[in-house]
Amino acid sequence: MDQLVDLRAQELLALDSSHLWHPYTPADDGEPPLIVARAEGPFFWTRSGRRFIDANSSWWVAALGHRHPAVLAALRTQLESLTHIALGGLTHEPAILLAKELVCSAPGFANPSLPSGRELTRVFFSDDGSTAVEVALKLAVQYWAQNGRSDRAKFVALADAFHGETVGASSVGGIAVFRDVYKKMLFPVDYVPAPIEANDGRGIEVLTALALGQLRGLLEREEAQIAGVIVEPLVLGAAGMKMYPPAFLEGIRALCTEFDTFFIADEVFTGLGRTGTLWASDQASVVPDILCTAKALSGAMFPFAATIASERIYDGFRGSRERAFLYGHSYAGNPLGCAVALAVLRCIRDERVLEGIVEKSATIRASMKSIASETGAHNPRALGMIGAIDLGTSGYRSTAALKIYRHALELGLYLRPLGDTVYVAPPLNIPNDALEELLALMRLAVLEGSKA
Ligand SMILES: *Cc1c(COP(=O)(O)O)cnc(C)c1O
Repeated sequence: MDQLVDLRAQELLALDSSHLWHPYTPADDGEPPLIVARAEGPFFWTRSGRRFIDANSSWWVAALGHRHPAVLAALRTQLESLTHIALGGLTHEPAILLAKELVCSAPGFANPSLPSGRELTRVFFSDDGSTAVEVALKLAVQYWAQNGRSDRAKFVALADAFHGETVGASSVGGIAVFRDVYKKMLFPVDYVPAPIEANDGRGIEVLTALALGQLRGLLEREEAQIAGVIVEPLVLGAAGMKMYPPAFLEGIRALCTEFDTFFIADEVFTGLGRTGTLWASDQASVVPDILCTAKALSGAMFPFAATIASERIYDGFRGSRERAFLYGHSYAGNPLGCAVALAVLRCIRDERVLEGIVEKSATIRASMKSIASETGAHNPRALGMIGAIDLGTSGYRSTAALKIYRHALELGLYLRPLGDTVYVAPPLNIPNDALEELLALMRLAVLEGSKA
């Protein structure tokens, strides 16, 4: 059935165009959206039955593919008994088991060399990546406020960072196009550049040392005000899959320890295997003071998030009732979310998802290199289940990338770009033949799109 003769589709698209406001989409986009009817694994199908490969796991959430059977089964089981209950004075088995599972899988778990209090032992549930970040920021500020350092309420973030959409999360964001309109309402933040391989001949070690030097200078000047340093470990996702070396993370961790301020790892995108290890922090063997996780955590079912904090931070909230963390979203610790997240963590372990990534990642890396050399694209790069190239054109509002996006759609590939970065972040468990097909289609779309 073609969309042109599908009258229902025409009707739906007219209603969509009258009433539905799409995220990150120009009001006069001119391109009618595809009506998706079904999704399974790395694929989705439109009403008319056309199949597409989901090259970005639907904005990075379908890390185990769409509708993973074990995750669906966990959801169905949970639906039978408890769909929601407040966490004030009440608790439930899925929340308890998930908190324990997250703690046992967190960076540094059971590492005897970790200083006492630094273990990540406390899980605070919220709704999505943005709120997971809000929780982290407020935890840090309230901790210092009631533990003798009330001037510490400022954050250091990475230039080009993305941490979400709410006001606090966008305040620590560093991408100018997202920030500029709102800058009068956002709180001030200090930025440090991440060491991203530049084309100016300076090596990555030099850039790393420079960036760490800058962070040290900042902490020396402003240590009294700095509540924490927040980073996307190893990959600045929304900025265009910009990758930096683990040594930078190690350096930040060391500086946060030296100046006794909090190291906040926003693993909303990088966590749960995306970069090849369960947490990107694991690749630098760093243990953050606070870790945020969401996106893949709820298996592309619905929003759900967790912020994991150290025992030291929890200790800073002990004592009288006034010291409680006065924060909590209505759906905090939702049982459906907890049951699904528990199933996601178990699948990653039981289906040995991380082991399967090694070969796929090498395939992605080789493919980015060959596509770049064939098309003149820049900076081919890969890490775990992320691969990217830059077109080297006009930044975030690049039209060259849009051309490639449209060619890809014609070929049955959903390859939505980030500015002038064309990237893939498919489900971690994508079958090898589907991955080969995805990469072959990407090559065709980039070739076609690079023609004058
Ligand atoms: C997507 C993202 C967020 C925001 O998550 P939402 O679920 O969209 O609110 C926060 N941090 C990072 C690193 C992200 O990639």
